[in-house]
Amino acid sequence: MKLIGAHVSVENGVSQAPVNAHNIGARAFALFTRNPSRWRSEPLTDADIEAFKTNCGLYGYTPAQILPHDSYLINLGAADKKKLFLSRQAFLDEMQRCEQLGLSMLNFHPGSHLNMMSADECLDLIASSINHTLDKTSGVKAVIENTAGQGSNLGYTFEQIARIIDHVEDKSRVGVCVDSCHAFAAGYDLASPDGYEAAWRSFDETIGLDYLCAMHINDSKKGLSSHVDRHESMGQGAIGRLFFEMLMADPRMDSIPLILETPDESLWAQEIRELYAMTKDHIQ
Ligand SMILES: [Zn+2]
Ligand SMILES: [Zn+2]
Repeated sequence: MKLIGAHVSVENGVSQAPVNAHNIGARAFALFTRNPSRWRSEPLTDADIEAFKTNCGLYGYTPAQILPHDSYLINLGAADKKKLFLSRQAFLDEMQRCEQLGLSMLNFHPGSHLNMMSADECLDLIASSINHTLDKTSGVKAVIENTAGQGSNLGYTFEQIARIIDHVEDKSRVGVCVDSCHAFAAGYDLASPDGYEAAWRSFDETIGLDYLCAMHINDSKKGLSSHVDRHESMGQGAIGRLFFEMLMADPRMDSIPLILETPDESLWAQEIRELYAMTKDHIQ
């Protein structure tokens, strides 16, 4: 079964995320568990945690259907010692919030070298930041998201992600989230049937499909290999509708969160309906 959803709002608290997801007909959702653009954030209260768990139970969301996203400021490959310290501290807090909420995954962007070190040095530093955090937590998987390769952001090739995973000590607690817009912008041609198959073959050979934990299913405003991260609504961008049809018919994407981060939130309910209509799930 496909688990399709969107990155929903947590205005008025994390406990509103499952309600918002339910209201758009989602079987999965993503959320921020803290303010994504601040270094400091208030801790979750017992009441927040309780209400979140109650609402997840009420609307039938299990941890396997929930993909928290970490904050944008975090750079686990920062050359600057102070930035790296702050990033590791915030990332640990993100992981601990997931533990508190009973969640099993945390999705994050690997990091940027900012032209202060080589790509390989940065990838190894990211892996060591992951090891550092996994040591202090339990039960939550660090889920690396591929990037568009904009600026000095790393993780835009499957080889770079594989290098990070290679250096992670506990392989059972690391996974990958493939963002279709980022992959396309990075040069993986998901728009054509041949390109789609080639991309997943390359993923399997380089990283291994067992590591695939989730997807962000976005169309792209910019073209193939543009290295520009601009999401577009489903079927309205350079990737196009055929990709979404191929994805919905692909059993390799069963049972993992497939999250829309498309720009027009008012279309989410409709996009989710259309995606389910492309699967066989709606025919019982
Ligand atoms: Zn994404
Ligand atoms: Zn993006």
